[in-house]
Parts: sequence; structure tokens; C-alpha cells
Amino acid sequence: MNKPARIIPRSTGEHQTDWQQSLASAVRDPRELLRLLGLDQDPRAIDRNPAFPVRVPHEFIARMEPGNPEDPLLRQVLSLADENIVTPGYTTDPLAEQDAMAVPGLLHKYAGRVLLTLTGACAVHCRYCFRRHFPYNEANPGRDNWQAALAYVRERADIHEVILSGGDPLSLSDARLAELFAAIDAIPHISRVRIHTRVPVVIPSRVTSTLRDMIAASRVAVVCVVHINHPREIDQSLVLALSGLSDSGATLLNQAVLLKGINDSLKSLAELSETLFKSGVLPYYLHLLDPVQGAAHFAVEAPRARQLLKALSGHLPGYLVPRLVQELPGEPSKTAL
Ligand SMILES: *Cc1c(COP(=O)(O)O)cnc(C)c1O
Ligand code: SF4
Repeated sequence: MNKPARIIPRSTGEHQTDWQQSLASAVRDPRELLRLLGLDQDPRAIDRNPAFPVRVPHEFIARMEPGNPEDPLLRQVLSLADENIVTPGYTTDPLAEQDAMAVPGLLHKYAGRVLLTLTGACAVHCRYCFRRHFPYNEANPGRDNWQAALAYVRERADIHEVILSGGDPLSLSDARLAELFAAIDAIPHISRVRIHTRVPVVIPSRVTSTLRDMIAASRVAVVCVVHINHPREIDQSLVLALSGLSDSGATLLNQAVLLKGINDSLKSLAELSETLFKSGVLPYYLHLLDPVQGAAHFAVEAPRARQLLKALSGHLPGYLVPRLVQELPGEPSKTAL
């Protein structure tokens, strides 16, 4: 008879959990992505080897409609040759973030809150991302070097909120997050920690019991701002992950980006708000696309964006209408349109 398998592996390192395996096995080849969807012939030219690599977890692919080249989830993650078109006015650092970096990995642009770019890693690579050219290797404080960023926060009693961003902060292990949470929790003038994340959207099993317990046990209030652009991203597994977060006491908000051909219709936006609400999430921001080089084919012009929001307001209660905003370098907050 075989010896019974060891239930708790004896290992000094952290063992790889389901969500970490899922991260590791994400699809990185655009042709494989098309193949999985039965799309051997994409009508548009794809970029097979883009500078900003393709990365899509299987859980997200599972929500795409096979055989549909216009699937709104597919369009967010498939690299197109269009990304190589150079468009005037589109830059590699549209938000001038590199100027706002007070210490490596810490952006202090707005009063009362700082944003930590904890890691360059994301679970999914969104083709429209304004950080697609961001030099994360220099910009994030590195595995063992959060001390400078934490010291900056400790010294400034007018900072009340720490925003964990990235990349994606939930691509860090629970052990790393717990370390950071404990350090932030111990700074008395911090009353809120905000987590800007898309990992649970594309890999719902990221909402582990350890993460939920950590949120439930923290002194500071926790706000999770997820990033969902289209109602079809929300399936039963995500609904469960979101309710796990809210059960642990987190406030749930959503930010979306207005994307041509993906969610730039009254129907998509209204359905997104309704579906978010059913999942315990309120819409927070709808961002106008940041003019990042390689993403111009996703742009929705401001007049059309305003028109859509006006139509949405005529259709939904105010609390289901996200704020349409744009980020302009040098402004004291995001700018409402
Ligand atoms: C968006 C952003 C914030 C948060 O802004 P809110 O309006 O509070 O959501 C904070 N810091 C930076 C650098 C940002 O880009
Ligand atoms: S998850 Fe967020 S930071 Fe990462 S690629 Fe997508 S939009 Fe960019």
C-alpha cells in the first residue's frame, strides 16, 4: 500500500495555491487564445509577438463566446497589429506618473492619499492599459524594499488612505500582503486601505480565506476597487468571490474604462451597472481612455462619452451611474467630464 500523501507539504517556501497555478498557466500566445476559441481565422490582423506580452488566465477565457471574434472580453486582451500604429498625442507615460513618484513605488498626486505601485505583475494584460510602457522594474519598490514608501507615509500625518496598486497588488502572495497590511495598520493616521485590483475578476479563486480573514481582522477600513468593463465578465464564480470580499467587510466599487467596440453602448453600460449592483458592487469611475501609445483604436471621443453618460443617467438611479473621469497630469484630482 502506498503511504498516504502528505496533506500539508513540508516546505519552507510558500506552496503554490490554485490561483498561483492559474497565474502561471495563463495563455501567453495570441494564436493559442484564438485556437481555444475556435477562431483559427481572426478577421483582424493580430500581433503575434507584442512588446507588451499577451497574458490571459483560462478562467477569463472560459467566459468568452467561442467562435465570436468580436467578443468583448477577447477584444480587451488580444494583441492586434493596430497596437503598432503611432498616433500623435498618444505617449508612453500619459499621466506623467514618473514625475509624481515621491519615492520609488509611491505616487503622491492627490491630497490625503498615496498610491503604491507594489508590483509590475498583473494576472491579465489589458491591451488599453495606460501602464503598458511603465518601467515597473525601476518603479516598484522590490521584494524587500517597501521601507522607504512606508517611512514616507509614516512621516506625513495628512495622509489617511493608502492605495495598493501595481500592476496588481493581488498578484502578491497572501504572506507578502499580510506583511504590508500589518505595517500599514500600525500607522495611526491611516484609516483606509484601498486595493485596486483585477486579479479576482480574472481568477476568482484569488479571494482566499486567508485574504478574507486579513481584511476582516484589519483595523483600517478596506475598500476594494475592482476593474470590470463588461457585464459578461461577471459569472457565478466572480459573484461568489465578490460576496466573499464584502462578507469580510470590504466596501466594493468598480472602475471601468470606456472602450470602443467593447462597452461604448447604453445597453452594455446599463447592464454593467445592474449586474455590478446585483453582485454587491457600486460603479465608481468610468475612465476615458488614457492616451497611451498603442491603444488609440480603443478611444471613445469625449462628446460621445458625455452623450452615453447622459443617456445612462436618464435610465438608471444616480447611484448606478459611474462618474465619467479623465486623468489630466497636474490636476489635484481626476477630472469629471
Ligand atoms: C486615481 C489615483 C488616486 C485615487 O483617486 P481617487 O479619486 O481617490 O479615486 C490616487 N493617486 C493616484 C496617483 C491616482 O492615479
Ligand atoms: S489589470 Fe490593470 S494594471 Fe494590469 S494590465 Fe489590466 S488595466 Fe493594466
